[in-house]
Amino acid sequence: MTPRVPLRPAISALPAYVPGARVPVGAAAFKLSSNENPYPPLASVQAAIIDAASDINRYPDMFATELTEALAADLTAGLTQEALAAKGPVTAEQIVVGNGSVAVLAHILEAVVDAGDEVIFPWRSFEAYPIVVSVAGGTSVPVSLLAGGGLDLPAMAAAVTPRTRVILVCTPNNPTGSAVTHAALEELLEQVPSDVLVVVDEAYLEFVRMDDPVDGLAALAGHPNVVVLRTFSKAYGLAGLRVGYAVARPRLAAGIRSASTPFGVSHIAQQAAIASLRAKGELLERVDSIVVERARMAAALREQGWDVPDSQANFLWLALGERTADRAAEASAAGVIVRPFAGEGLRVSVGEPEATDLFVKIAAGWR
Ligand code: PMP
Repeated sequence: MTPRVPLRPAISALPAYVPGARVPVGAAAFKLSSNENPYPPLASVQAAIIDAASDINRYPDMFATELTEALAADLTAGLTQEALAAKGPVTAEQIVVGNGSVAVLAHILEAVVDAGDEVIFPWRSFEAYPIVVSVAGGTSVPVSLLAGGGLDLPAMAAAVTPRTRVILVCTPNNPTGSAVTHAALEELLEQVPSDVLVVVDEAYLEFVRMDDPVDGLAALAGHPNVVVLRTFSKAYGLAGLRVGYAVARPRLAAGIRSASTPFGVSHIAQQAAIASLRAKGELLERVDSIVVERARMAAALREQGWDVPDSQANFLWLALGERTADRAAEASAAGVIVRPFAGEGLRVSVGEPEATDLFVKIAAGWR
């Protein structure tokens, strides 16, 4: 037989990434399967996108200077007094943008993980984690969640070995919605060796409403081994344009930039992100209404008797065990697309009030 091009064993062994189904525009279905923002882009953001389109015969700004400077100003404005006093303002050189935060995470791992190095992460969590770890050549060390869906940070600290290179802290955690407190994160950081990178994945940060929430930038001010990971996909509603970023100490940021694909964020995406930062107030009002909707959906489901863990993100988790796949198919047939994790549970994004009403009605039929 003609010899075939071999794939790396780590690649052949990868689980498939399951994206939420794309629903055709106008279809009679609510897509609650990808934690997207249900609102369409603001007029000001659409105008920026159209403006930027006239320039796409040119490569984008490789280092996204205007965007990283706008982000640096925005992040500095949100720093605590202590963080500002300890490390000064966030600077553009600390920020690395990429094609969605999942690409930035892949580049972070490519920058620091050598073959066989261990990467600790909570599990069940964001399904891309084991994939990006394997692609980078690392070894996944998943640590089980607590019974209620929260991260077991002491167990994650206890899993550190001399081969540990990175710890991923997903807060709020996808798909359970649980978030850790800042005090608990600080405790972890005190225990972890200073040459182990701690990535704080704050994809759902803007939806958090709890006492003592994680403040990744404050953690970064106190610990040089922290990298904060954020995205424009969720609260800012730009999932389709793919813009995410990391904030790190300048030396690490330079390393992540070196590992990144050149020109990874298009001019249109950069301009849309800048316009979104300008419209932050308006966008965060939308986030507030999603948070209200989250509470309404959780209360209605709990009233039906479901055990819904407290969610600090824009989705809820229903642990349905073996019934998960059937229930997801039923919901889809009834007009709501949800995200099943076979044998474990359903993740339902919080969307429009009409979507909540329909899902709550479907769930009532399962009691
Ligand atoms: N982190 C977490 C926890 C996520 O749930 C997601 C998206 N599902 C991402 C990162 C990646 O988002 P994006 O690549 O769109 O920025």
